[in-house]
Amino acid sequence: MSGPAGVDADAHSLIDGRALAAQIFGEASDEIDELKRDLGSVPTIKILRVGGDAASGVYSRRILKSAHRVGASGEVIQLPADLQVKALRATLRGLSDDTAVGGVIVQLPLPVGLDVRHVIEALDPLKDVDGIHPFNAGLVSRGSIGFAPSCAEAALQILRRTGVPIAGRQAVVIGRSSVVGRPVQQLLLREDATVTVCHRQTRDLARQIREAEIVIAAAGAPGLVTGDWIKPGAVVIDCGINVSSSGSVRGDVDLPSVAPIAAAITPVPGGVGPVTNAVLMLHLARAVRAQRDGGFPDAREMAS
Ligand code: ADP
Repeated sequence: MSGPAGVDADAHSLIDGRALAAQIFGEASDEIDELKRDLGSVPTIKILRVGGDAASGVYSRRILKSAHRVGASGEVIQLPADLQVKALRATLRGLSDDTAVGGVIVQLPLPVGLDVRHVIEALDPLKDVDGIHPFNAGLVSRGSIGFAPSCAEAALQILRRTGVPIAGRQAVVIGRSSVVGRPVQQLLLREDATVTVCHRQTRDLARQIREAEIVIAAAGAPGLVTGDWIKPGAVVIDCGINVSSSGSVRGDVDLPSVAPIAAAITPVPGGVGPVTNAVLMLHLARAVRAQRDGGFPDAREMAS
């Protein structure tokens, strides 16, 4: 292996998400250790699952495993799918008020009849480690420190940690969802990229992507991006996790045709996914610190 951490030059510059995740898990682990010594308690993450399918069960177990890996503790709170809005709000408020709880994840999507907008205000933004609260979305959109959704943050961490220049580069994001596309756009802007966001109504997606030096795919469309769309030497980050009926997982990028043309590409699985879990643990440590200190560093400065 040569070049920056996580890039394997011998395998068409496949970015090794697991290696990068290990690096981030290590940092999270150090931060958690320090907090344990300082606070005398174990940082804890709670995962609120309302109903939920098999895929969200796998996701919950991965978060628990990640928590144990960094010496934190985790618990899944399983609630029935027919839960009333009022009861969900009360549960979230309880977790927000509980000083023993450091981070809270609400597994999305919620079942039909429950809208995240109706419950989100019950969540303390300083415990919102997956960045779903409008307070965090607002901080991220103005380029301040706040929790971005972990998948969006993972995409950015991959670029940074593999040494990809971002400032002044032409980046194209495919997808404008509040969990990936929009926050990725804002994080890239914060790093001084020139960003184009594409979506279902974009005319001639291929033409937009051909201009991109950095491509972030977050469309939820398996194999959408093919090699003939890629500018030679572009860096391609695939945030798509598309689970087929047989249970296999595919990204939004057609790896066999894109890998020989791109300078670097994240595979699925083994790319953005593991980094996302590691980022969540960094966020947990930062959440506990923000609660101890009474706010995010620059948010406090803004208030004074
Ligand atoms: P995710 O959670 O991965 O962001 P969503 O389903 O919430 O997925 O959002 C998908 C986004 O991708 C939407 O903004 C949609 O407009 C965009 N998108 C989906 N398919 C295409 C496509 N074929 N071309 C361009 N954009 C697409």
